[in-house]
Amino acid sequence: MNKDKDYYKILGISQDSDNKDIKKAYRQLARKFHPDINPGNKLFEEKFKEIGEAYFVLVDDSKRLKYDTLRGIIRIQPDSEQAKTQASKAYSEPQKDTSKETPKKDFEGIFSKFSKNFTRPDAQKGDDITTDVHISVAEAYNGTVRKVNILRTEKCYKCRGNRVINHMACDKCNGTGEISTHKQLNVKIPPKVKENSKIRIAGEGNKGVNGGENGDLYLLIHTIKSSYFTYDGLHVHCEVPITPSEAALGGEIQVPSIEGFINMKIPAETRSGQKFKLAGEGLPDTSSNKRGDQIVTVKIEIPPNLTEEERKLYLELARVRKFNPREHIIFDK
Ligand SMILES: [Zn+2]
Repeated sequence: MNKDKDYYKILGISQDSDNKDIKKAYRQLARKFHPDINPGNKLFEEKFKEIGEAYFVLVDDSKRLKYDTLRGIIRIQPDSEQAKTQASKAYSEPQKDTSKETPKKDFEGIFSKFSKNFTRPDAQKGDDITTDVHISVAEAYNGTVRKVNILRTEKCYKCRGNRVINHMACDKCNGTGEISTHKQLNVKIPPKVKENSKIRIAGEGNKGVNGGENGDLYLLIHTIKSSYFTYDGLHVHCEVPITPSEAALGGEIQVPSIEGFINMKIPAETRSGQKFKLAGEGLPDTSSNKRGDQIVTVKIEIPPNLTEEERKLYLELARVRKFNPREHIIFDK
């Protein structure tokens, strides 16, 4: 191990790359600089040796930790999305595939020499995690973005999952090789999700063991209905107060719907208790594109604490309009 050499640069990868990235970068470069492609070329031989050395150190967790420490490299989130992006950028340059020109026998021989020590037959996929997500019926219909907090296991950053450091059990993970960490994720919930449905977010579950894949995260969807409304199948009912002048003159008022406030027109001479239908503003039927209706019942509400001026105006109204709303009531004596 030579701490003066930048092994990451040699392999053309970022310092956050995982073993998969390291192996991929190594394979591509080993093909490119294989001595058999250019026999006798000292530069190729030198380069090939250097690539092998970088790979030998970086692919081995404990060697890599030692090397990183010597170089002062601190890897905080080895599996962050950013790290993955950087890593893929690093080797995204198209390279000539020279594998066909390489004598196959020698090529495989060299590979097995390096890879034998690093094969992990006991690789296990990490466990899946399920977390409950509560969203409104409107969000379930339109889709939404939610922050979810999860607790998951990750490879211990101190011992890199090796459980031991210098023949001593790692004190960070108590020799388990894993630590529990809280993580906040922004998750996208697609439109038209059903109650109790599960949304899978690949790779965000518990960390895989011995290079195994990460588990997946499942979001268990629960929809919450507002208690402001009453529900009748897909139809939604509510009562909305209006002022006497709104009732008399009509106009546009704002009423709550399952998606927030929406405008509703009421005609002049609206009666208290009159019902209005807002077509298609009810609950969505997730199996079809249909939505129920919203039925709004208006109730006239007299403003409290009438002022002297208001009292005078009501008296004036009573004077100019002799109106007895009870005169048509007929009942048996
Ligand atoms: Zn540890």
